[in-house]
Amino acid sequence: MNVSSHSEWESLQHVWNHPVVFGYRSMFYVITPQETTYENYEDVPHFVNKSIPFFATLVVLEMIVQRLVKGSKPTRVNDATASISAGIMSLLPELLLKSGKISSYVFAHKFRLWDIPDDNLSWCAALVGVDFGYYWAHRMMHEVNFMWSAHQVHHSSEDYNLTTALRQSVYQKYGMLVFYLPLALLGISPQLFLVHLHFNLVYQFWIHTEVVGKLGPLEYIMNTASHHRVHHGRNRYCIDKNYGGTLIIWDRMFGTFAEEDEEVVYGLTHNLNSWEAFNIQFCHLKHILKRTWSRKGIWNKISTWIKGPGWAPGKPRMGRPQDIPDVHAPVVRYDGPPVVPTWYPVYAMAHLSLVLFAYHLMANHDIFANPLVTLSCIGLLMWTLTDIGYIYENRWYAGYLEIARCLTVLLLDILVIGAQTEGALLSRNADSWLYIPRSMFIFSLSTWALHFVTKTADSHVD
Ligand SMILES: [Zn+2]
Ligand SMILES: [Zn+2]
Repeated sequence: MNVSSHSEWESLQHVWNHPVVFGYRSMFYVITPQETTYENYEDVPHFVNKSIPFFATLVVLEMIVQRLVKGSKPTRVNDATASISAGIMSLLPELLLKSGKISSYVFAHKFRLWDIPDDNLSWCAALVGVDFGYYWAHRMMHEVNFMWSAHQVHHSSEDYNLTTALRQSVYQKYGMLVFYLPLALLGISPQLFLVHLHFNLVYQFWIHTEVVGKLGPLEYIMNTASHHRVHHGRNRYCIDKNYGGTLIIWDRMFGTFAEEDEEVVYGLTHNLNSWEAFNIQFCHLKHILKRTWSRKGIWNKISTWIKGPGWAPGKPRMGRPQDIPDVHAPVVRYDGPPVVPTWYPVYAMAHLSLVLFAYHLMANHDIFANPLVTLSCIGLLMWTLTDIGYIYENRWYAGYLEIARCLTVLLLDILVIGAQTEGALLSRNADSWLYIPRSMFIFSLSTWALHFVTKTADSHVD
C-alpha cells in the first residue's frame, strides 16, 4: 500500500467510524464487535435512545419517498402523533428503573454454567441468541393474552410506516427478560446481552415501511420490510406469522412463516379507533379485567389471562380462525373526528416536542435522581401525552385540561425558582434557553384563554 492509498484508507476509516455514520449503519446492524464491546454492562450506552435523532431523519426521508413511490400511503399526522406519544410513554418507566433494567439477567449470570470471554465468537453467539430469545418472547406475546395486552400497542396502528415502529408498550420489555435468561446461564455476559438487546430493537425500526419492496436473497435469512408487513397484517393469512426480530430463520424453522401475498390490511382484528396514548397502552388490560370479572369459574378466569387473545370458553387455546374477520384491501381506516380549529395539530406538535425535550433532560440530569421528583414529572408527561390524544379526538374538555396543565407547569416552575435550590434545573441562574419552553407555556395558556373568550362571545352573538 503506497502513501496516498494509505491515507485514503485512513480517511475512509475515519468516515466509517464517524458517530453519524455509525448511527445510521447501526440501524441496519452493520456494526463490529470491536466498536460495541464493553468492560461492564453499566458502560453500555443506551443505543435505542441514541438512535432517536436518526429515527427522526428517516421518518422525514420516508415521507419524501412516499410521495415518489406509487401506491404507498402517506404518513398521517394524527396516527403518527399517537404512535410517537405511545413510544415516549413506553420510555417513561425507564427513568425510574435506570440501573435495575436488566438486574434479573445480571443475577442469573452469577449462576452461569460456563465462563465465556467477550470475544468475536461470543459476540456473534449473543446476536443469534438474543434474536432466538426475541422470537419466542414475541411469539408468546401473541399467544398469551396478558402478554398480548402489552404487545397489542405495537399492532394498534392501521398505518404502516416508520412511526409505527415507535408505538411501543409501557410494560412489555419487563416481561420479555425471562426469555433471555437461558443466555445468562450459558455464560453470555450482561454487556454483550445488553448491546444486542438494543441493536435487535434498533434494527426493527427500518422494517416498518411500505416504501421498501422485496430484497432478493436477503429475504431468506433477514427479517425484512416485506416479512414484517405480514406480521402487522390482519388479513387471515397474516395472523400470528413472522415473529422474527432480526432474522427470519426461526419462523421458517418453527412453521410460523408467511410470504407477503395479498395486499396487507394493517392493525388489530378489532381496532381501537383512538389517538389517545393512555387508552392505546391499557385498553386491552381493561378488557381482560372485564372479561375475567364476567366469566364464570376459576379456570375460565385464569384461562382469560394465559390462553390466546381469541380464546373463549369452549374454544381451542388460540381461538377459532373463522372468528377472525375476513378483511381485504382496501378498507376505510379510522381517521378521528375533523380537528378544528386548524391550530390544534400545530399546538399538539409543539407540546410533543416539549415532552421529548423534557424526557431528554430527565434522562440526563441528576436532579431526577430523587424518585419523588421523577415520579411527579412522569405523571406530568403522561398527562401531556393523554391531552395530545384528546386534542386529536376533538374532546370538548381537552382545552380545559390544557389550561389546568399549563397552569400546573408554570406554578411548579415558580415554586422551584422560589426555592432557589443550588443547581436546580429551573433556578434563576439556569441557562436562558429554559425561557423558550417557559414562554411556550405562557403563550399556550393565553391562546386557550383567548379561544374560550372568543367562543363564548360567538355563542352570545348567535
Ligand atoms: Zn407482534
Ligand atoms: Zn412491528
